[in-house]
Amino acid sequence: MKLDVNVLRYLSKEDFRVLTAVEMGQKNHEIVPMPLIDSISGLKHGGAFRCLKTLLQHKLVHHEGQKYDGYRLTYMGYDFLAIKALVARGHIAGVGRQIGVGKESDIFEVTNDEGEVFALKLHRLGRTSFRDVKSKRDYLGTRSNYSWLYLSRLAALKEFAFMKVGGLTAAAADDDDDDDDDDDHEVFALNYSWLYLSRLAALEEFAFMKALGDHGFPVPVAIDNNRHAVLMELVDGQPLVQVRELAHPAAVYSAAMDLIARLAARGLIHCDFNEFNLLIDEEETLTLIDFPQMVSVSHANAEELFDRDVECIIRFFNKKIGYMPQLDESLPSIRPSFQAAVAEAAAAGASGLDVELAASGFNKNHAKDLQAFLDGSEVQSDAEDADGSDSEEGCEDEDEDDSEVGSSGSEAEDQAADADELTEQLAASCRDGQA
Ligand code: ADP
Ligand code: MG
Repeated sequence: MKLDVNVLRYLSKEDFRVLTAVEMGQKNHEIVPMPLIDSISGLKHGGAFRCLKTLLQHKLVHHEGQKYDGYRLTYMGYDFLAIKALVARGHIAGVGRQIGVGKESDIFEVTNDEGEVFALKLHRLGRTSFRDVKSKRDYLGTRSNYSWLYLSRLAALKEFAFMKVGGLTAAAADDDDDDDDDDDHEVFALNYSWLYLSRLAALEEFAFMKALGDHGFPVPVAIDNNRHAVLMELVDGQPLVQVRELAHPAAVYSAAMDLIARLAARGLIHCDFNEFNLLIDEEETLTLIDFPQMVSVSHANAEELFDRDVECIIRFFNKKIGYMPQLDESLPSIRPSFQAAVAEAAAAGASGLDVELAASGFNKNHAKDLQAFLDGSEVQSDAEDADGSDSEEGCEDEDEDDSEVGSSGSEAEDQAADADELTEQLAASCRDGQA
């Protein structure tokens, strides 16, 4: 999919109003019926219909005529809404070239009024289809890490939102009303559309990036978040995967290991720590990016995940750089110790970032919810978004299907709307630096 921001200029106020109406309608409709768009937008004399024609022409909405006459946003439509909001906040003035295609994101260079350049990451959760995850899980056997990780990542997203929702509702809730938790589960189960998941992913990434940056980790400076978009510092460097020769391989290797250990000492395991998610600059300084599937060191599989991150880096240096840490006697240690890091994390106690960010993921209820969702969800392919270009060949066997996650049908529309409002509040609190 190409992001043609020139279209932004040709769209009228009414066009955006109708685009926003489709977005609002999608909070509780997979396909938003025409009369609803008409009434939300409040345009007279078939105004909404005329605008929809323009939006269709620019591929910002998708028309469905099978079940009933209705529309839904395309990724591009969602992109435009996010970009417009960031423009309105004065954070960006123009969108430039695409600098990255991730498994589940697209990254663009953007500028502000002063000509400063930033990176804008647009999350595309659901680009990898659930069906694929499911079939992989079925035949991968012992190598079922992928789906497990994917599920924990969804669970982590959910938990993060739950935690926030819990925090926001706790004050109002009756103390002995222990049904609250179940209600929240229901609310979120209703909201599993790609749009919603991408938004949670961006929200989470922004919060993590901010927290890690605040604690002195080398990550891009987090600037703003709207919908599924994260605005951040543009790192002056290239992904380590593109590098074949290093002036100081031992120093870079040690820096990577040190980073894994320091994260664990603050209670976190990255889980996708590899040459794709490390950027390196001219001075051979590393910046860590992309942390949607971080888990807590108290996670049941923590040690395995920690070791896998370590092995990824060792393998990369062996195979691609030609540096063998295991043969380098000048190294103080080849690999960091999980136990030592955990001991340090324990000493840090409640100030652990995992506790702060609730990255621990998987509890039984979440697992049940996700399973129910996987079993019941329809996966629809989406030709207009299928650019087939994203592929990351990190340590993990990642797949690259471009299908979307179909949202589950909705009955309790009020609940869904409540959840959305809460997420909005959560976004606001992240922006205000309270998260
Ligand atoms: P995904 O989650 O889809 O894997 P990433 O966050 O890893 O996306 O970004 C994909 C690519 O985009 C990176 O490999 C890198 O080349 C580029 N990129 C991402 N963020 C930045 C940034 N802040 N500065 C410079 N390049 C970036
Ligand atoms: Mg990545």
